[in-house]
Amino acid sequence: LEALGIAVRLGDGATLPPSTELVVTAPGWQPDKPLFLAAAEAGVPVWGDVELAWRLRGDNGRKAAPWLAVTGTNGKTTTVRMLASILEAAGLRTAAVGNIGVSLLDAVLGESEYDVLAVELSSYQLHWAPSLRAHSAAVLNLAPDHLDWHGSMEAYAADKGRVYEGNTVACVYNVADPATEDLVREADVEEGCRAIGFTLGAPGPSQLGVVDGILVDRAFVANRQKQAQELAEVSDVTPPAPHNIANALAAAALARAFGVEPAAVRDGLRAFRPDAHRIEHVADIGEVAYVDDSKATNTHATEASLAAYDSIVWIAGGLAKGATFDELVIGAAKRLRGVVLMGADRALIHEALTRHAPEVPVVDLDRTDTGAMSEAVARAAELARPGDTVLLAPACASMDMFTNYNKRGEAFADAVRARADESA
Ligand code: ADP
Repeated sequence: LEALGIAVRLGDGATLPPSTELVVTAPGWQPDKPLFLAAAEAGVPVWGDVELAWRLRGDNGRKAAPWLAVTGTNGKTTTVRMLASILEAAGLRTAAVGNIGVSLLDAVLGESEYDVLAVELSSYQLHWAPSLRAHSAAVLNLAPDHLDWHGSMEAYAADKGRVYEGNTVACVYNVADPATEDLVREADVEEGCRAIGFTLGAPGPSQLGVVDGILVDRAFVANRQKQAQELAEVSDVTPPAPHNIANALAAAALARAFGVEPAAVRDGLRAFRPDAHRIEHVADIGEVAYVDDSKATNTHATEASLAAYDSIVWIAGGLAKGATFDELVIGAAKRLRGVVLMGADRALIHEALTRHAPEVPVVDLDRTDTGAMSEAVARAAELARPGDTVLLAPACASMDMFTNYNKRGEAFADAVRARADESA
């Protein structure tokens, strides 16, 4: 930067350099930093990378593609990838961008021209993107997360809700999560923009839902009082776990809002494969399935994956980030064959199990070395019976023992494959 003649200050972000006209911040910076307070006092705007990209789109002479935006506590990446897959199947030039690998600035200023972008947005990014106006947007769900950054659940929800501001065609909400519908009601949208719900049950008018194993659309049809349009089968979605069907419905709703035909929804969902470590089936050994959901780094995500199986040996633990585990354990207790705990905050989960599921056997692993995951898998295998699923869904962050959730998932998969090879 200095080679470009730019003054670079390293510091704690406490003071606003004189004559600053604009602050552009990385999303991780908390809004209560003195620098931001000073900017507010001086009337200097603060933008994140998303705001910058939104304002710069079209500046390179290429078409400014509309954005279909997705936020929520869990399922964002999966839904955005499903959406991009559907848009591609419809023959549209698109990309999955934002909080997902390709930054919005790269997408907006790069060489490629797009018809539409599938955009994943975090609550941090939305906080710093005041003028963003998506074509249509979805809030998948709302559960406590990142409250240290936002200060409160209300502030977190309000930042998520910004994704609906100024939508032109559809605000997509989760019927099972009324807080998402409340955000639609509070949003200031363009004239004619519709609220579209998605549900795992039979859809009402202006909703997408499921009837007899079929994903159906009762929103984007000529007569939604009487008509429903078949989009795809539940078995077209991988994995067909309930929360993932919800993700598929949200993606389908956004695609339909953009005018995509039903056949492309089906083809796009069929072509979609989830990213690694998201309810990934690793192997079957002696009629026991081994599933890697290392990406389940909070209790809300883990609740969804525990709900997807009937009889589970659950591998959990790590860094709790201030979470409590009582509700999670109460909801899953009757489906737990056994539990293997590891990591820094495993005692918190153990205590919840003692309180609410005292009959479930628990193995408490008091080791953090590289062999710990192999032992966890071995102990889980001892607890499992034919027909069970051994599920890594830690409900915790991984950094106490692993570099990240990818490494944790790989350690699990390696240990499972080694056992599979031995038993072959
Ligand atoms: P995000 O990008 O929001 O972190 P991902 O698509 O990467 O979401 O999924 C993260 C984890 O959240 C998955 O491994 C799964 O356990 C869980 N998950 C995915 N979709 C949902 C959903 N709709 N509701 C609850 N949990 C979900």
